[in-house]
Amino acid sequence: MKYRVLANDGIAEVAKQKMIDAGLEVVTDKIEQDRLNTELNGFDALIVRSATKVRKDLIDLCPNLKFIGRAGVGMDNIDVEYARGIGRMVANTPAASSQSVAELVFAHLFGMARFLHHSNRAMPISGDIDFKVLKKNFSAGIELRGKTLGIIGFGRIGQAVARMALGLGMNVMPFKLDHDEVKIDIDFFKIKDAAMTITVATDPYEELLAKSDFITLHVPSVNKPVLGKSEFSQMKDGVCIVNTSRGGVVDEEELLIALNNGKVKHAALDVFENEPTPKKELLHHPNISLSPHIGASTLEAQHRIGLEMADRVIDFFKNL
Ligand code: NAD
Repeated sequence: MKYRVLANDGIAEVAKQKMIDAGLEVVTDKIEQDRLNTELNGFDALIVRSATKVRKDLIDLCPNLKFIGRAGVGMDNIDVEYARGIGRMVANTPAASSQSVAELVFAHLFGMARFLHHSNRAMPISGDIDFKVLKKNFSAGIELRGKTLGIIGFGRIGQAVARMALGLGMNVMPFKLDHDEVKIDIDFFKIKDAAMTITVATDPYEELLAKSDFITLHVPSVNKPVLGKSEFSQMKDGVCIVNTSRGGVVDEEELLIALNNGKVKHAALDVFENEPTPKKELLHHPNISLSPHIGASTLEAQHRIGLEMADRVIDFFKNL
């Protein structure tokens, strides 16, 4: 019998082919959420990214569904505990996107440091505003080297960010819930055959808030914001914030207040409380650098994620 796999939010072509070569039937035509109730039970495996929601009621309607795969990290769109509790396999690909997310953090950091998000919007509509005026407005940029980067959440992505920050000459202040030391391999020095491991001691939260010039968040989805009114009040004036973790990790209302009163100079958001319709005040704020939840969306990460997920699916059905 040929097992049927639905990759409902797409999957890298190479991963699709790998599953087909292993004898699986793979469908990548999207089935809209409201039709999954009636059509998903025809499949043995479902692979999603973040768009398709796999909630208890859908799982209950699909007794044939044996495997639910999240091609990526966060599984907040899947009722994981429930599915596992009734014997369904649920798997993700936790490590494959760390480099891509970390690079997006630096895209935003470099952009904010030199006002790129602002000048990209202002120059095309400058009309009679003189080029020289814009040049003057955006001439007080800063270098990242020597600045302090607070990293809240020091798992895979937090550590990938630290690696790059150390390479740039930034001071790294990571915060980890259990306050200990983390060993980081600086593997890009391998080019010179000089890979090194450094030990980074994690810092108390209050110190990170008080001393950071930039703060980046890499924690899982939470019920209560990690950065809210009290945390903003403890930060340096003119701090910049980057959130590529999950919407809701930063309190958006408090962030807007902090941007408008100058406590926060710039913010960069890849994730939002109300995706796919983020608050208009955020989208139109001149001091926010925006991206539409694309942290893991590079060709390289999608390739790695797809292949890792294909291996998980193939192994699962081989052993069934
Ligand atoms: P990870 O599990 O490796 O690391 C998360 C770390 O956060 C852990 O060390 C955990 O102990 C720590 N943590 C949890 N709550 C904390 C808190 N309140 N304060 C400080 N630390 C806390 O996860 P990861 O792979 O590094 O991913 C981090 C986040 O990035 C996840 O939310 C994930 O969903 C998100 N992500 C976003 C994208 C994107 O497209 N923007 C892509 C991939 C992952």
